[in-house]
Amino acid sequence: MDRFEVVVVGAGAIGCSIAAALAPDHDLLVVDRTGVAAEATGRSAGLVSPTLFYGAYPGAARHANDAFRDLDGTGAFSFTEWPRLDYVTPEDEAEARGAAERRSEAGFPVSYLPREAVERRYPVANLDSFAGAVHYGDTGWVDPATYARTLLDVAIANGADVEFDTTVEALSVSGDVVDGVETDGGNYGADRVVLAAGYRTSALLPGARVPIRPYRTQCATLASGTEIEGTLPIGRVASEGLYFRPEHGGELLVGGRHDPVEVPEHASERADESFLRTVAAEVPRLLRGFEGARVVGSWAGVDAGTPDGRPVIGRPTGAPGGALVATGFNGLGITLSPVAAALVRSLVAGEECPFETEPFHADRFETDRPEFSLRSTADL
Ligand SMILES: Cc1cc2nc3c(=O)[nH]c(=O)nc-3n(C[C@H](O)[C@H](O)[C@H](O)COP(=O)(O)OP(=O)(O)OC[C@H]3O[C@@H](n4cnc5c(N)ncnc54)[C@H](O)[C@@H]3O)c2cc1C
Repeated sequence: MDRFEVVVVGAGAIGCSIAAALAPDHDLLVVDRTGVAAEATGRSAGLVSPTLFYGAYPGAARHANDAFRDLDGTGAFSFTEWPRLDYVTPEDEAEARGAAERRSEAGFPVSYLPREAVERRYPVANLDSFAGAVHYGDTGWVDPATYARTLLDVAIANGADVEFDTTVEALSVSGDVVDGVETDGGNYGADRVVLAAGYRTSALLPGARVPIRPYRTQCATLASGTEIEGTLPIGRVASEGLYFRPEHGGELLVGGRHDPVEVPEHASERADESFLRTVAAEVPRLLRGFEGARVVGSWAGVDAGTPDGRPVIGRPTGAPGGALVATGFNGLGITLSPVAAALVRSLVAGEECPFETEPFHADRFETDRPEFSLRSTADL
């Protein structure tokens, strides 16, 4: 039986970023039941917005921001830096101004812009029903499959082994410490096992408290005939549960919805008619020049959510020694993948983590059945 210091289960954005961080000084195997970016990662919109969602944890946000810029230009990967507007309703204006000021004081390029200022700067933005927008100058997007593949290539270049089309069926445990993984292709020994298996992670640790639940979220691409490349910012409209970004080819990508699913394996990978109708009705209200836009593509994917909207990274309560999880990314797994990588590395290598870790601790839930908040990917 082959033995490794670390087995990483899952070759999505999270498993690949952890593998890239550990491979330089660990003997490591990545196992995936399918291949790289086969599930949530490959269906992602690829938006990267650490400051918007995690600005309250500035060390983590800065770490993520830097990581995408550092990886830019590695292999086929590129990070498209692009500004983002967070549309603000009149009711939310005071709170949004305050949050923008706090992020700006912490050194992030964030400001609140009233409606007229937004529309002067971005004539395509239609803020008729909004008071203004928070403007983020440190956001962008990635092609998520290329991103994950690039990280896996970095791991392989540093000596990592990879087994695709191999399903981990259980952890092998000796005493109360993990000893490896049992797969449908044979067993592997390991001192540590990192479970980055998306919503399937909890099933691999039946005795542990990993409070995640699968939810389905959707995307569509629209062609408008309007020239948007170079003029259209990334946008989030929390009040409508929608976000959007330009595609390099000139189409508009729109995403949203957050629907818990009971049997994720059978969740449709196609977007719902009702979602497409919402997109068709809302986009012309949010962006000028989209009155005659056509939907040219759409899809859905399943990610894992946690009760408080933050991921669980580390050893959960009740897990055997040496077993770590990195899951529950709540629609932000691309954005937070560098955070997961650095935190798992600090736990495996016994190093100090370069940012605050408490928000992500895997043992922070005190009951087996914590309540899930009804947040959506758009209003985290
Ligand atoms: C439609 C959509 C849009 C999104 N948009 C964004 C966005 O704009 N920005 C952002 O930051 N995030 C976004 N997300 C969220 C992001 O895609 C996820 O949080 C992230 O991809 C999670 O990565 P992961 O590696 O944890 O999971 P996955 O990508 O699901 O990877 C898990 C891997 O584990 C493997 N696996 C599972 N069980 C086993 C097993 N037993 N044995 C072996 N392998 C196994 C699977 O095959 C899979 O490859 C979006 C998600 C969706 C669905």
